[in-house]
Amino acid sequence: MELVDNFGRRINYLRLSVTDRCNLRCRYCMPAEGVEKLSHGDILSYEDLFRIARAAVAIGVEKIRITGGEPLVRKGIVPFLARVAAIPGLRQLVLTTNGVLLPEMAADLRQAGVQRLNISLDSLKPDTFRTITRTGDVERVMAGIAAALAAGFPPPKINMVVMRGLNDDEVVDFARLTLDHPYTVRFIEYMPATREKNWQQFCIPAQEILDRIAAVHELEPVEKGAMAGPSRDFRIRGAAGTIGVISAVSGHFCGECNRIRVTSTGMAKSCLFSDDGLDLKPFLGVEVPALLEDALRRLVGGKPARHGMDAEKAEHTAFSMAKVGG
Ligand code: SAM
Ligand code: SF4
Repeated sequence: MELVDNFGRRINYLRLSVTDRCNLRCRYCMPAEGVEKLSHGDILSYEDLFRIARAAVAIGVEKIRITGGEPLVRKGIVPFLARVAAIPGLRQLVLTTNGVLLPEMAADLRQAGVQRLNISLDSLKPDTFRTITRTGDVERVMAGIAAALAAGFPPPKINMVVMRGLNDDEVVDFARLTLDHPYTVRFIEYMPATREKNWQQFCIPAQEILDRIAAVHELEPVEKGAMAGPSRDFRIRGAAGTIGVISAVSGHFCGECNRIRVTSTGMAKSCLFSDDGLDLKPFLGVEVPALLEDALRRLVGGKPARHGMDAEKAEHTAFSMAKVGG
């Protein structure tokens, strides 16, 4: 079954957030004191999250990404993942993590049926990593990447949010990680989700990121796979891995957007930067799957053509990515 929106985009990808809590405090994602704590009653139970995943697959979603907050801090995540992985019709179950808990959990995640990991890593330098995450230890993430490989995961996608003056001096170092390792390193434009003061000064357009790498390494374009996301992908000539840029701000990829999101409180969103959301809670209490499926179809029917943000202006209400799942 195909799920197509009013602009002809095929929607086959759900980002499902299982918690808004996190063991890091990345400065571009949340305030230093963390996000306001939600009570247990506000966060969806695993049963409800599973219903949403199943309904999404029933209407045409083929890929589910589990995200958060930090998904690995929620107790009981491994059995939940195993249930989602077994939903008939789901082609890909993937997970985004900051990697901190992977040393202990990678093998269980693999066994549960997670097919691929995206690991967020914004600096290879201990001090810069700590400045950005406010609390983190980069060695834990490096150990997490090693644990993922040892557990049999395919080489991870490593996502770096590039911020001028904070970590942009490491762009070429990150690209060079792909010379000897078959990783996919993706450079993500900093997005003004929290609308921090003078956010424009941190944004580096994807083209500038590419130009900096191309100034020292020859880049060749890479063909995209069928379920590939919105990144533009390249390989440094002769490298084992690939690099990609995600230009969420400077170059809208809205025309190719194939995703919907559901937060850990059950708010469904058809666009990250739209203030609109559809509360799925009323459709969860009743054991009539068709109601939930119809609600998700309505969400897709209202998906806007594009968001209204660019490198100079942002019109959305400030939010934490940890609440929406990135
Ligand atoms: N905690 C997990 C992690 O960090 O990978 C999953 C949730 S996190 C909200 C998902 C993704 O959103 C991460 O790759 C993070 O870097 C990205 N993100 C958060 N805030 C962002 C921002 N302001 N601009 C760009 N990416 C952002
Ligand atoms: Fe936590 Fe991920 Fe947000 Fe960083 S980006 S604070 S790791 S949820």
